[in-house]
Amino acid sequence: MGEFDLIERYFKRPARQPARDSLVRLGIGDDCALLQPRPGTQIAISTDMLVEGRHFFPGVDAQALGHKALAVNLSDLAACGASPLAFTLALALPEANEAWLAAFSNGLFALADHHACELAGGDTTRGPLNICITVFGEVPLQNGASTALLRSGARAGDDVYVSGHLGDARLALELLRGHIQAPEAVLLEARARLERPNPRVALGQALRGIATSAIDLSDGLLGDLAHVLKASGVGASLHTAAVLSRLEADPARLANAGADPAPLSPQQLLALVLAGGDDYELAFTAPADARAAVAAAAASAQTPVTRIGSIDAEPGLRLLDASGAAVDNRFASFDHFRQ
Ligand code: ADP
Ligand code: MG
Repeated sequence: MGEFDLIERYFKRPARQPARDSLVRLGIGDDCALLQPRPGTQIAISTDMLVEGRHFFPGVDAQALGHKALAVNLSDLAACGASPLAFTLALALPEANEAWLAAFSNGLFALADHHACELAGGDTTRGPLNICITVFGEVPLQNGASTALLRSGARAGDDVYVSGHLGDARLALELLRGHIQAPEAVLLEARARLERPNPRVALGQALRGIATSAIDLSDGLLGDLAHVLKASGVGASLHTAAVLSRLEADPARLANAGADPAPLSPQQLLALVLAGGDDYELAFTAPADARAAVAAAAASAQTPVTRIGSIDAEPGLRLLDASGAAVDNRFASFDHFRQ
């Protein structure tokens, strides 16, 4: 199968309703795609690359991979409060394996269709498996100003929130690596969260005009929140009990693997949640007088959110236990370049 057959068969689809207000005026097939932003909007763009062996295990389910490759990109749009419109796909493949391509494009388009996000073009080449997607989203302008959620808007006194619950993806990774052991049902659920993250697109849009800053959690809460604090020139205090999520509900299910399995320590549970990575939840800030508005946004997006702390004028990040005492926060956030 040649490159052009492959694109025709697995990636080119009949144009959706040739709607006059669709962003993509010309899709796959020419040298360029043509995008036409609607008046009164800005285009939000983000790119994320997934490399075999670095971001996913060799041999991972192709359908799940198609889902995740787009999901991590949609998560960036969500963090900016943008509505997904279109994406491009650059694909390096070691071989044209039809079963793999069919499963990959199925997973990819199922999520794309769910968010009405259209594949507008891309590139296909032979090489080590590598998937690079660029997404295009829309943010309305208000009186000429952007309504995008940025990292730089957090202010002292704001509340800090996270969506969903954290730590499952890292838990799955440690279970798969054999560092932790748990009942099969725990592995299945954690693995679904690792391989099929659910980008919080509806929540991001619902938070426009309410949240003062937002970021999506790809590298771990502490590391990612630090970007917000730096960009905003503020600090934060977080309550560990609030972030511990349901991992804490029955920690005895989780044990360090080995001849004599010992339950995970409270520090290990915290590390999963605070420095785990790959959660693709949103962390955001909002003024304390916007609590009702945040709750309404979460309800309209059908996405649970938890208030986990507050923004301080004093730089740095402090962790507090239930009694208000300081907790050691030396958890290394996942860093691709740290050995
Ligand atoms: P060129 O050689 O001019 O760069 P290509 O032959 O690479 O063009 O691509 C032909 C058309 O197919 C273009 O419209 C391109 O956007 C599209 N395309 C190529 N690979 C993909 C892919 N993986 N997914 C979607 N569209 C693709
Ligand atoms: Mg090309």
